[in-house]
Parts: sequence; C-alpha cells; structure tokens
Amino acid sequence: MEHRHLIWCEVERSSLIANLARFRTVVGRACLLAPTVKANAYGHGLLLAARAFLDGGADWLTVNSLDEARLLRRHGIDAPVYVMGYVSVADLEEAVALQCRLVVYNHETVEQLGRVVARLAPGTHAHVHLKVETGNYRQGLELPDALALAGRIARTPGLELEGAATHFADIEDTTDHTYARQQLARFHEALTALAAAGHPVRLRHCCNSAATILWPHTYLDLVRVGIGAYGMWPSAQTRVSAVLEGRHGIVELKPALTWKTRVAQIKDVPRGAFVGYGRTFRTTHPTRLAVLPAGYYDGYDRKLSNLAHVLIRGQRAPLRGRVCMNMIMVDVTDIPEVRLEDEAVLLGAQGAEQIHAEQLGDWIGTINYEVTTRIAEHVPRLAV
Ligand SMILES: *Cc1c(COP(=O)(O)O)cnc(C)c1O
Repeated sequence: MEHRHLIWCEVERSSLIANLARFRTVVGRACLLAPTVKANAYGHGLLLAARAFLDGGADWLTVNSLDEARLLRRHGIDAPVYVMGYVSVADLEEAVALQCRLVVYNHETVEQLGRVVARLAPGTHAHVHLKVETGNYRQGLELPDALALAGRIARTPGLELEGAATHFADIEDTTDHTYARQQLARFHEALTALAAAGHPVRLRHCCNSAATILWPHTYLDLVRVGIGAYGMWPSAQTRVSAVLEGRHGIVELKPALTWKTRVAQIKDVPRGAFVGYGRTFRTTHPTRLAVLPAGYYDGYDRKLSNLAHVLIRGQRAPLRGRVCMNMIMVDVTDIPEVRLEDEAVLLGAQGAEQIHAEQLGDWIGTINYEVTTRIAEHVPRLAV
C-alpha cells in the first residue's frame, strides 16, 4: 500500500459481502435484505459499505438521515433507500425527489408529503412506511393513531402506504425474550387491524440483526440488518441465545474493520518516570515507549487510558498514561523489534492477536456499536 496515513481504517470488502451473503442464506430469496449504512456505515465508511452490500446482494439500503440518502444518490447509488430517522418537514420535497422511502408517524409529515407529491407529475408516488408502537417508545404510533394516519395516507393522492414497521426494545439485551414476543404479538395485531380497516401493507418489517439471527418467524417481508452485516454480534446475550436456540452456526460473522496507526516515536524512559497528562502512570522499571498519533479526537476514547492495549508486530502493547487529544503512549519494552512507522492496530487483528470492538466497549462501559460508530469521520476508510 502506497499511502502514508498516520491513522486510518482498512475495511475488508470481501467480509462485508460474505456477511451479507450469510444473511441472504438465512432469510431466503423472498425476503428483502435491507442492510443499514447509517452512522457512516457503523464507522466503516458509508459509500464503501453501501457498494459492498449491493455487490453482496442487498435489495435495499437503510439509512438514518436525508444527508446519508443524498450522499448515496450523489454517488450514483440508485437502489431503494429507506430513511429510518426523522426528516424535517422542510426537507420532504428533497426526500421525495431522491426517491427515498420514508418512515412516518406524524400527521404534519403526511400532510406536507401530500402537497409535495401534488406538485409533481401525475402518477408520481411517495412511498411511506407506518411506524407502529409496540413497546420501544421511541418512534411509532399506538394502534388508534396508526389507523388514523393510515386513513389519512389513503386519502392523500400520490401517497402509497408501502410498509409498516416496528423495532424491538431489548431483543439483544437479554436471553429472556418475553418482552420481544409481546412486541411481536402487538405488531401482528396492528397489521391485522390495518388490513381489516382497508389498509393492507405490502412490506411488513421488524427485524434488526438479533431478530434475524434468532427468529426466522419475524422476517416477514424485509429485514433491517445492521451490526451483523459488519461482522459483529449484537451482544454476548445474542450469542448465548443463538447457542440456546440452535442458531449459532447458521450465521458466522466476520468483522470487517481494522483501525490502524503508526509508531511516531520510540523512546527509553527511566524507572520512576511519569507518563502523560495528570501523571497517572509511573514506570516501575526502565521502559521503552512508543508514541502513536491517535487520540480521543479520532474517536479513541479517553476512558481507555491506562487500560487498553494496541497491537504492534503481532504483540500486545499496553497503554501508559492518559489518552491525549491526538496521541497515546504504549509500552513496547517487550517488543524490541519495534521500528519507527511500524503499524499499530487499535482495533482488529494483527498476527495471531486481535482486539475486538466488544473488548474496547467493555473497557469503557459501552457497546461495540458505539465503539465503531465513534471512529471520527476524518479518519480515512480504505477498502482492502
Ligand atoms: C439501527 C437500526 C436497525 C439495525 O439494528 P442492528 O442491531 O444494528 O441490526 C434496525 N432497525 C432500526 C429502526 C434501526 O434504527
């Protein structure tokens, strides 16, 4: 590789494609596979991941924001795009022009969509999906309100109620799926009520990665897989549930992202030296340190101070002192072959060693989702 980035991510296209192909095998041909590329594709690079997923057989892409949808369109991606987050009323015209599928749960949104579509050529449609409240209390409408909004959509020329959706609150947080089962039952009740009221929907969807891994009966017409498509498990609980439900081998996932930096300085410090801000680490023996140009500005969390390891020459080098804005110091006393500009892995594999996003998440009290999505946008993502 010819680049000399000092901090960057390498994203394995073949792993993204393979993960998606696994999910295809799991959900079958009849179900639409709609991987989500929100949050810069969980930190993997929006366009890079979108292209890999489409090559891997994605039918749709799901995003959070209109900005993400616009970026996909500007780069020539014409696959169906479903926007899961809020689009402001003022931006609905653009959303329709970009042929986004929109999730709806406000009368104001439907009203404005009606106005926008009325200005377009006759026969033009905007496709909307009704978000149904089943117990997550985030987006979504309770059944009476959902029925009312469906009625309003039906009365609005040019609007098509294409889908209905809901989202599980805790399916990945526990091995006890009582609550998720209740949510699923409420969703089916809502679908039945919509059909009975004369508003049948073609695309019913509720699956995130955990549901897709665990529960074939929840696939319905479309699945919105996120974390799993990037080769990460939704949680340890989901892994355990998969074993318990005999589905562990069905989805073998391959992490796609390696986050790297380079050794910027190697220095020998004496016994008793204080390392970094706040003097939180003091050497107990003569120590060789490597200084790496990665810090919390880049998304390497400050809570990793004195806690994490990085990989250099296939070996673990522990962090010494606090994570700085743009630098960290690691102990390479036991890796004498280290040289200036050697690659150091912050997240991912090197040789036989691997630092998982789950491990970084555990160290700082969060989840793998947050670890990879918080890798700063200025860090280049290279397809490999
Ligand atoms: C992010 C998101 C998903 C994907 O969730 P994963 O756990 O990453 O698979 C699915 N649906 C909605 C509404 C989401 O916001």
